[in-house]
Amino acid sequence: MTSDKYNDCGPALGWDLHCHTVFSDGTKTPAELVDLACANGLHGVAITDHDTTAGWADAQKAAESCGLPLLRGSEITAQDHHVSVHMLAYQYDPENEGIVDLFRSTREARVERAKRMVSLLSKDFPITWDDVMGQTKKGDETTVGRPHMADALVTAGFYRTRSEAFAGAISSSSKYYIPTPSPSALQVVEVVEQAGGVSVVAHPADYSRNRVLLSDEQIGRLADAGLGGLEVWHRGNGTEDRERLSGLARKFGLLVTGGSDWHGDGKPNKLGENLTADDVVAQIVERGTIGLVS
Ligand code: AMP
Ligand code: FE
Ligand code: FE
Ligand code: ZN
Repeated sequence: MTSDKYNDCGPALGWDLHCHTVFSDGTKTPAELVDLACANGLHGVAITDHDTTAGWADAQKAAESCGLPLLRGSEITAQDHHVSVHMLAYQYDPENEGIVDLFRSTREARVERAKRMVSLLSKDFPITWDDVMGQTKKGDETTVGRPHMADALVTAGFYRTRSEAFAGAISSSSKYYIPTPSPSALQVVEVVEQAGGVSVVAHPADYSRNRVLLSDEQIGRLADAGLGGLEVWHRGNGTEDRERLSGLARKFGLLVTGGSDWHGDGKPNKLGENLTADDVVAQIVERGTIGLVS
């Protein structure tokens, strides 16, 4: 990436393809996301809540009213052997049976897992399931996860911030942690492909999420199965890994994307801090089955 249109964080102008709202663990609405993207001069934005399409309609309405192009997507929790993998998926048919089934089962598993974690946590931190659900801004429509447990612990006064709770009781290395039962990354690539979408491995080199990353061979196998891209431009990927991932993208013919992983006030990540180039977005739109909202 030697062009002067690129810097250490990826393209200097373009789209933010990784954003969360109140329909998962973000703190702002889809309309607030779109308004901020407009105000920040982004070329466009993608809504990518965890394991749901529930925020798409609100995002579409807001994008149409302010004239900002919008990609519709999700971030799907998966695993490849023992590596936890997040897969961004864009422009797929939200009514495809495979996708609907995948989200239904993951969301049911998430609720069961969250209830079990809350029951473990409540032995040392007196919080209830209702306290956690009280943190979900859209009730049952919100994809529930550890951030809502963290917020419940903050509200109860055990931690000052969500991030502090993630460094403590909510951490994946804490005794209260239970992983979310997830589909395999290969299965996600196949389901997204069948639903007419484009899949991208999110933050593939984020050591704060995984002690062991996806290997070159694992990424190669996903590419053979139809993976569309790698999210190279993300704050969790270190400089050397960005080079490694860019090389793998060239080798396997994968798109290179970037995104902030914006969660509103739920994380320090700033909207637009990492971007995807316009020509890459054009290829995602070309490959996807639903049209660009513009
Ligand atoms: P879960 O999928 O329920 O295990 O929760 C993981 C989610 O927590 C990820 O999607 C992140 O967005 C969020 N997360 C992880 N670490 C932090 C942190 N330090 N502060 C705030 N949110 C975090
Ligand atoms: Fe998240
Ligand atoms: Fe993620
Ligand atoms: Zn994310």
